[in-house]
Amino acid sequence: MALFADLHRHLGGAVVPRILWRFLQRSQSEIIDRFAHYGDFEQFYTAPKASLAEYLEIHKLVESTQTTGTLPYFIQRLVRGAYTFENLAYLELRYTPYLRTPATLSQTERLDLMPAVVQCVAAASQVPGYPLLMPQILCLHTHLPYEVNRAMVQLAADCVPTVCAIDVAGGDRAYAERLPEFIELFNWARELGLKTTGHLFETRDGCYPDLLPYLMRIGHGIQIPLHYPELLPELAARGQCLEVCPTTYIQTGTLTEIAALRTVFDRCFEAGVDIVICTDNAGLHNVRLPAEYEALLTADVIDFQQLQACQTASFRHAFAWPHAQPPSQVLQDWLRQPSAPAIA
Ligand SMILES: [Zn+2]
Repeated sequence: MALFADLHRHLGGAVVPRILWRFLQRSQSEIIDRFAHYGDFEQFYTAPKASLAEYLEIHKLVESTQTTGTLPYFIQRLVRGAYTFENLAYLELRYTPYLRTPATLSQTERLDLMPAVVQCVAAASQVPGYPLLMPQILCLHTHLPYEVNRAMVQLAADCVPTVCAIDVAGGDRAYAERLPEFIELFNWARELGLKTTGHLFETRDGCYPDLLPYLMRIGHGIQIPLHYPELLPELAARGQCLEVCPTTYIQTGTLTEIAALRTVFDRCFEAGVDIVICTDNAGLHNVRLPAEYEALLTADVIDFQQLQACQTASFRHAFAWPHAQPPSQVLQDWLRQPSAPAIA
């Protein structure tokens, strides 16, 4: 039985290197000519980067391959892998639909194609034999114009429950000049009844407390317990959780070692702020969710009891988990029944 939930994973970064390599081979992409062997490509794709900005460049490579024509290929493999190798029962998949439309078209034409992208992702996530719930989060982008971001908020509202929330992503240095714009869009999203999360307080460049009240969850947020612990009581009062993605901080050079997250977890537990452990870009990192759990345990960042608290919190903070209990509790209750049905 699939047991876990991942609340923070990008469609672009969800493609594991082997799947992307096979796709590039099949489509006879010229990208492949840059690499003599698969190993060279994997090294290029998964190696830690010097900064968040450099790390986000790799996303562009994958995004360029993901259109309505190719998304079923990637998503079907994502669902099979998430269910089989990660024990996921629930996955909130986030992406910017505008960036899955052909860049050769006009802005108006690209906006018109966005609903088809959402429907394409939803249809492709239904893989027989792999019962994984996969609602979508649409990501506003710091490098896209206001009208495109506004259209994505409207699209999200039009596509509930297929879409469960909005997010804001892209380079976090770009927030500063446009903060009032994003506050307005997030405020409007809340008025439309949408759920909200946002990449915030991920790096030292992304600390914008004015946006915090509009978010129901905080994408990363690790700089809060590390450098702004005075904000933690506000987060606890609002019931906000941090979506902590351990491998990301090593990959982007934000932290030098995973043990540095001990302060993050300790201060959040102490302040009553929930943490959900996520992958962010499981494919790009080549690190699946159970490996994230194991890395935190091995580095003595958390113990098993704390891990279970985070795993339970994932279902509690999920925007569209339809049940009162997490799967582990359902399984426990079922196993304790006196006569479980025979397995055919
Ligand atoms: Zn992210």
